[in-house]
Parts: sequence; structure tokens; C-alpha cells
Amino acid sequence: MKVATGKSILNGIAIGPLRIYKKAKTQTSQTSSLTPAQEWARFEEASEKAKEQLAELYEKALEEVGEDNAAIFEIHQMMLEDDDYLEAIKGIIDTQGATAEYATETTGENFSAAFAAMDDEYMRARATDVKDISRRVVNVLTGQDEGDALSGQPAILVADDLTPSETVQLDKSKLLGFITRYGSSNSHTAILARTMNIPALIGVDFDDSWDGKPAVLDGYNHCVYIDPAQELLTAMEEKRKADLKQEALLQTLKKKPNVTLDGREIKVYANIGNAGDVGLVLQNDAQGIGLFRSEFIYLDSADYPSEDHQFTIYKRVVETMAGKKVIIRTLDIGADKQADYFELDQEENPALGYRAIRICLTRKDIFKQQLRAILRASAFGTVSIMFPMVISVREVRDAKELLEECRTELKERGVAVGEVETGVMIETPAAVMIADELAAEVDFFSLGTNDLSQYTLAIDRQNPKLDNFYDPHHPAILRMIKHTVQAGHRHGCWVGICGELGADQKLTETFLRMGVDELSVSPSAVLPLRKLIRSLDLSQE
Ligand code: PEP
Ligand code: MG
Repeated sequence: MKVATGKSILNGIAIGPLRIYKKAKTQTSQTSSLTPAQEWARFEEASEKAKEQLAELYEKALEEVGEDNAAIFEIHQMMLEDDDYLEAIKGIIDTQGATAEYATETTGENFSAAFAAMDDEYMRARATDVKDISRRVVNVLTGQDEGDALSGQPAILVADDLTPSETVQLDKSKLLGFITRYGSSNSHTAILARTMNIPALIGVDFDDSWDGKPAVLDGYNHCVYIDPAQELLTAMEEKRKADLKQEALLQTLKKKPNVTLDGREIKVYANIGNAGDVGLVLQNDAQGIGLFRSEFIYLDSADYPSEDHQFTIYKRVVETMAGKKVIIRTLDIGADKQADYFELDQEENPALGYRAIRICLTRKDIFKQQLRAILRASAFGTVSIMFPMVISVREVRDAKELLEECRTELKERGVAVGEVETGVMIETPAAVMIADELAAEVDFFSLGTNDLSQYTLAIDRQNPKLDNFYDPHHPAILRMIKHTVQAGHRHGCWVGICGELGADQKLTETFLRMGVDELSVSPSAVLPLRKLIRSLDLSQE
């Protein structure tokens, strides 16, 4: 007898032979010979067909598992109508001349990866759902039939992963239980399994030799016995979480404009640290990404991340944002953000030391690798680049020169590159004081108030002992912000705030009156800010 462990979805026991289920891999071709409009029409037709299938599945599930659990198939129908999802697919068809199936599959993967990386357990479980609906549409487009995973005698199904629709389509009279390598305990597959009283284990490492072997799936003890010495049957217990209701997509402020009562509009973007945060950006309906802290890619790596690796990450973010602006801040390493492989010297004053643009302009090979990756991703949506820790015009000119060099190199390689706006982070007093000159070099400013406060007030942002001395509303900071906005506007630059102060609701009205064009805040702060903005009336003094 052999024992393998996993995570139990349902306390129950199943006894029977194991049956390994391998899904057919759909082959989708990337480039289309049709026009984008024709491909979009194909998608729309397939999506309608998929919705019809889901309506049928809903009826089937209604009979088998009741209204609450059948609701997942209604949610799937709604997901197929989600604006962000549809825009992402259309964006890929339009910008890449891609087939509807490629665009759907890619979007399914991108969104799924974004959901999977979220902290919220409920949202993480949506990763499988978005893959499921995408797969359904792709199957309609390619005329593929998933086939019956269970034919012949009743069995315990073993698979890498099972989607909710596969689960509900399985012939329950033959399904004794299931075991998957992947999946989460909060996925709808898991919920359905619980409701259908099907013992299930996830996270089990299995191999092909299991196929056909007799087994006992012991949900109580989170394990499966292969070739068991004895058989055992037991009653099942349901323990279902009420997380369906938690669905945040229906937040009332989604899709509403960020506009004051007297009609002043301001952009509210979100800050992200890695590609996985994009799910939060969509969930909270930010109009764009105002700060992608790209250095986290470097901090997550054991060695310098390659151009291709970075490109894949930027492309995923840009594609998922489907044409909405994505502002990528170039490498801001050093000071509190250290990666060993950079082998940076110990410094007396690291915040005033060798960091950010200073490293990039001396280690040009690393910088250019990043710039090329960003430029390549710019072909897939709307990308802006901004440079951190700038103190001089020369730095900006040098950075832009390297950017142009990279653009030329890519063109020579025949690689597509989009238009990119360039911007400067205003986070040193020096940058504020020369804002007029800097504005002449770039398209936008983004105020990094975290560092700007540290350098203006001479207060180390890392030192908790200084909290009592730190006043984020210090008039010096507010005047610097005002000065920067005015200088930017004089030269046709738009001006945003991406430091923490941007989310300070006590200052929102002040920022609007100063003429700030954009606020980029953590994703969870987007909707509260929208609520406040919509309640302000700037026509009143
Ligand atoms: C800032 O300094 O305000 C900023 C946004 O950058 P970081 O916090 O990453 O230094
Ligand atoms: Mg900073």
C-alpha cells in the first residue's frame, strides 16, 4: 500500500479505481488572416454560444446542486460580459492582429495569473473561473469537444486541474471522488465538490502508474491510499464557505467617473509592485497604473532579470490593462531596496547614496536591458516610462538618450515598439526647484512625496523614532507640490502624485484646487478616493 497526501476539500471517503484524466491541449494559432473586426465578430459569436452552454449548465446544476451552487454558472455568464475582460481580448486582437482564440486564451491566462497572485482568497479562486470561461470560448471557436472524462466503471478521477464546468459535466453516477495536483480549496470546483458530496483532495503529487489501481480517498485524513489493504466507506460532511456573496465586482462605484460636483475631472490610477497586483487594479477599477515599481522584479530575482523575463511581465500587465495607461518607473534600487547580486557597497548615507537613476546611468547595460523590455511591451498597449530620483536635466537627457538608443536597436532587430510618454519623478527638492527646466524635457511629472518629504524635511523615512517630527502636511511640501504643478503646466506637462500623500483624503481638495491632474494610490484606495472626489464642490470657496 502507498499513501499520498494533499489538502481535503470534503470530509468523506471514496473507494474505487483511480482514473487519470488528461485534457486535450487546444492548438490555437496566433496570427489571423482576417481583419480585427472579423476576429472580434468571431469572438462575439463564440461568446454568445458559450453563454448558451452556461445557461444549460445552470439548469443542470440547479437540479443537482441547488440554486446557490448553480449560481456560479450565472457568474460565468456575467464574467463573459465583463468590460475589462472584453477590452483585454479586443486589445490583443486589434494591436496584434491576433486570432480570437489566441486573444481569448492569452487574456484568460493573464487574468488568471493576476487573480492567482492576489491576497484575497476569494479573488484567488477566480483564477480558475476566468480560465474556465476562456477555455469554453476557445473550444467553441475551435470546434473542440472536451470529451467525457469518465466513461466505463465508476472511478476516482485524478487530474492536474478541474474547472467547475468540467466538474458539473462529469457523470455523477460514475464519479466517486477526485484528486487534483493544482487548485485551491476555495475554488468553485471545490465548492461544487462539497455540495455534490464528492470527496476530493487537491495538491496531490501523482504519477501515471496510478491509473487503474484500486484506492481509498480519505478526506478526513487528507490522504489517498493506493492499493489499500482494506476498504472503508463513511458519511460526508459539508462545510461550505459563503464567499460567493463577497464578489467585489459589483461595487457601486465601478465605472463611475472621478469628477467633482462642479465638473472637475481628475485621473485616479493605482500603484503596483508586481504583475500579480493587476487583478487588484481591475477589481478596484483604477483608470490606469500610475506607478509600477519595477524594482520588485529585481528584488524577486536571484540574479539580474533578463530582458525577456522583464518583457513577459510588462507585457502581461500592459495587455491586461487593455489600452489603459501603464506608467513603469525604471529601476529604483539602492537605499532600503537591496539585491545582493548588485554587490552595492555599504554606504554611510544610503538614502543619499548610489541609488536609482544614479545606478542606471553608470551601469548602462542593466538599464538598457530594462528599457528594451519596456519598449517591447509598449507595442501591446499604452506605456509611459518615468525616471526616479532625478536631480538634474543632464540625468534626464542621458536617460532619454539611452532610451532612444534602445529604440534604434530594437528597430534594427525588427521588433515592434509603441509610442511612449516619458516622465520624471519629482522626489528631490532639486527637481522641484528646476521643474521648469525638467518640464521642457518630458511629458509628465509624478510627485514621489515619500522621498520628497524625506529630503525636504531631512527626516529619514525608515526611522520610526522620527515619526513625531514628521508632518506630511508641512507647508514646505505643499508649496513644493504647488510649484511643481504650476511649472509642469507652464510647459504642457501633466502632473500627478504617486507618493502616499496622494491617498490622503484631507488633502484631496487641496490637490484638486492646485490643479493636480492625477493621483496614483494603492488599489484599495481608488474607490474611496473616487467617492470623495464625487462629493466635492470646487465652485464653493
Ligand atoms: C515616493 O518616493 O514617493 C515614491 C512613490 O517612490 P518610493 O516610495 O518607491 O520611493
Ligand atoms: Mg521614491
